[in-house]
Amino acid sequence: MRFCPKCGSKNIDWVLPQTWSKYECKDCGYIGVFIIDDGEIAEEIKKEYLKNNKMIEG
Ligand SMILES: [Zn+2]
Repeated sequence: MRFCPKCGSKNIDWVLPQTWSKYECKDCGYIGVFIIDDGEIAEEIKKEYLKNNKMIEG
């Protein structure tokens, strides 16, 4: 299982521009090579992301 390193979402797609493999997150728009494959770390990221989003929303 792979997770977004920005928001911890599982909703990611693998995009292949030429030779460089990248991932795209459908939830937060993250695009990059780095990806999380540890569910526990992903949970922590998700919590932090949601907390930060709440702070931004006010
Ligand atoms: Zn994401």
